[in-house]
Amino acid sequence: MNITDVLTQFAATGGVGPLRPLAALGDITAKLGPPQDVGRVASKRHWPHWYRYGDVTLEVCRCQVVNRVRIDTYRDTVTVPTEAGRLTTLRARAAYGPLEAALAAKGIIWTTVLESDVGCTTEIELPDEVTIHFTFVGNSPVAGPEGLPVHGAQAQEFTHACGPAKPDDQNPDC
Ligand SMILES: [Zn+2]
Repeated sequence: MNITDVLTQFAATGGVGPLRPLAALGDITAKLGPPQDVGRVASKRHWPHWYRYGDVTLEVCRCQVVNRVRIDTYRDTVTVPTEAGRLTTLRARAAYGPLEAALAAKGIIWTTVLESDVGCTTEIELPDEVTIHFTFVGNSPVAGPEGLPVHGAQAQEFTHACGPAKPDDQNPDC
């Protein structure tokens, strides 16, 4: 497994292994063990809550459904969970051009949705209303995006919606 494999899987599924939007936290912990608790999304409420496995961060709703998955690839290495539930550290050398080619080989085509002086963002939409964004940041996109390093990727679901907390919720905001 290398970083291109991980990011290709992210583009195809919206995540890394069982870590993907709309997954249940209980199913994830059954496979990978407990995550690291990163903290609250909003300071006054326990939910939604951030957890992580290595460099893969989950935003989890109070109903224990994963809303969002993010992988950070801007450091020299990236740590991801393996299927066996351990963490493995990979070299985080990935760039726009080679990743675009690796995805095209799997039939995955992205759309550029944002371009700026420092990089760009591409988007992939999955059938179950999960949207994936890859962010590329570099010094000289003038020459084209091919050499821009991958800063990170994020996948978010737009189907699940919890209403306000009810008194009988198992995990009311607190
Ligand atoms: Zn929910």
